[in-house]
Amino acid sequence: MTQTPLNPGDSPLVREALSSVVSRETSATQAAQPGESLGGNGAWPRPPKCRVIAVANQKGGVGKTTTSVNIAAALSMNGQRVLVVDLDPQGNASTALATEHRGDVPDVYQVLVDDLPMTEIVKQVPDMPNLYCAPATIDLAGAEIELVSLVAREARLRRALAAYDAVELDYIVIDCPPSLGLLTVNALVAADEVMIPIQCEYYALEGLGQLLRNVDLIKVHLNPSLRLSTIVLTMYDGRTRLASQVAEEVRSHFGDTVLKTVIPRSVRLSEAPSYGQSVMTYDPGSSGAMAYMDAAREIAYRGAAL
Ligand code: ADP
Ligand code: MG
Repeated sequence: MTQTPLNPGDSPLVREALSSVVSRETSATQAAQPGESLGGNGAWPRPPKCRVIAVANQKGGVGKTTTSVNIAAALSMNGQRVLVVDLDPQGNASTALATEHRGDVPDVYQVLVDDLPMTEIVKQVPDMPNLYCAPATIDLAGAEIELVSLVAREARLRRALAAYDAVELDYIVIDCPPSLGLLTVNALVAADEVMIPIQCEYYALEGLGQLLRNVDLIKVHLNPSLRLSTIVLTMYDGRTRLASQVAEEVRSHFGDTVLKTVIPRSVRLSEAPSYGQSVMTYDPGSSGAMAYMDAAREIAYRGAAL
């Protein structure tokens, strides 16, 4: 992959989108970068306590669900116990993990709105012994409005997850909807970490400042332990100068918060969900599967050294 030298004058939109977040500190993940030296095939280190990661970006189609599902699958295949919480009424993560989410299947909506315990909705993902899914049905679309009138409306998911310790999880990955509404707020209040997928194209950074301001607001008012831990560059097309420019811009602003691993465009990634699989089992040798495996390894080892 060739990297075009950064030319800050080339992309005013990118600079504008980032102008509000230039001073953001990126120290949280700078300490540990052992990813390169990890040749071993043993299980990855388990975190000292469960890491709750919200995968958020209010833009649709940037790779939130693909990232959530495949990072979770990769972690689970390397000795981690992982729960994916599908917080998007579209239920795409549930589909990709072959978890029933139609009809009157109990789902995240009932956890958030009706106080159903998580244990009632969590299912083990078929053929993936360490991977679990809390599915979303289309009912969840109503939650944005119904949550408004509930007590502690921003902390419903946090409370539900705190009460759930059924399988001694190492990771909870929350796949957020493409909005900054109460569902995403619930994810950010429940999480310790935010992971932002950024698509390597021109408008990719629009709205990023708004997302980061929301993260700061939630950190100040609702969840002091929240931090932006990870940015993952997705749908990278190495043939275009634009993709490498966007990648370089993002790295220049966010430093080591950005994973070294870049997720390439890969048709296998988009095919896998229709088979009810992550790409990790659908086509483990594909470029997309290998990239998500590397990304998950980076996440596991960074966290372990924090
Ligand atoms: P989001 O959850 O942010 O809306 P998705 O993960 O659903 O985004 O991705 C949007 C679309 O792009 C989906 O059809 C998905 O299969 C496809 N896609 C995601 N990542 C890649 C990739 N790296 N290469 C090719 N297609 C991708
Ligand atoms: Mg999605």
